[in-house]
Amino acid sequence: MPELPEVETVRRGLQPHLEGRRIARLTLNRDGLRWKFPPDLVQVATGATVTGLRRRSKYVLLDLDREAAILIHLGMSGRMLIEGAGLGDFHRDPAILPRHDHVVFETDAGTRITLNDARRFGMVDLIRGSSPLLDVLGPEPLGDDFTGAVLAAAFVGRRAPVKAALLDQGVVAGLGNIYVSEALHRAGIDPRRAAGRIGRARLDALVSHIKDVLTEAIAAGGSSLRDHRQTTGELGYFQHSFRVYDREGAPCPRPGCGGSIQRIVQSGRSSFWCPRCQR
Ligand SMILES: [Zn+2]
Repeated sequence: MPELPEVETVRRGLQPHLEGRRIARLTLNRDGLRWKFPPDLVQVATGATVTGLRRRSKYVLLDLDREAAILIHLGMSGRMLIEGAGLGDFHRDPAILPRHDHVVFETDAGTRITLNDARRFGMVDLIRGSSPLLDVLGPEPLGDDFTGAVLAAAFVGRRAPVKAALLDQGVVAGLGNIYVSEALHRAGIDPRRAAGRIGRARLDALVSHIKDVLTEAIAAGGSSLRDHRQTTGELGYFQHSFRVYDREGAPCPRPGCGGSIQRIVQSGRSSFWCPRCQR
């Protein structure tokens, strides 16, 4: 599933094609994905100008000039295509098939922007003002309001493992398996440690490592999860910078550690970590 850096990469890729453009046509090839599309989606979108593109957590929001925004979530396998070419390659799933083109935007410049989603866990919704989907979210990890103090307050009394607590979107928005594993390794924190039993100095460090790993991943255009060999100049090469994620058995990259990366399963999800230097 795409995490914050991948969704931010998609937002940045869409921006030049959508911002300031009018939606000339919106075609829905089915009545919904994870949930049904709102009945007035086509009516509201058609002819509207996209005044801006925002990201909140893993949602991309297209602000329209009519007091509504189109919310897009990529779910497990959703991809945004511009003229049929994918924006990054952030899934393990196989090839893009035209029969999974479910939502097609055509702009007044003639550009076709498609949501292709094989597993149909994605979402397209209309929001006006606030939305329950957004209201439950914690702070943006790259925002100034995500601090060690805020994380400490969210973790008070929590016995859940820190890995699980960081995946809780109400604690901090947009993190998933990859970047939590990477940030915990950088911070030297055992992913099994109870969230409420991590001292403030370590939480301060953790917050700064979360910001760093996300910033670096956005600069790399996110992480490609297929076996691609992008090195530079293309979207999605942060996977070459993974220190622990998907590296089971590899030597720990921390200088002088000498441990090796292990995989454990927590809440049904893989965690990658180094038992020697994460405590
Ligand atoms: Zn280590």
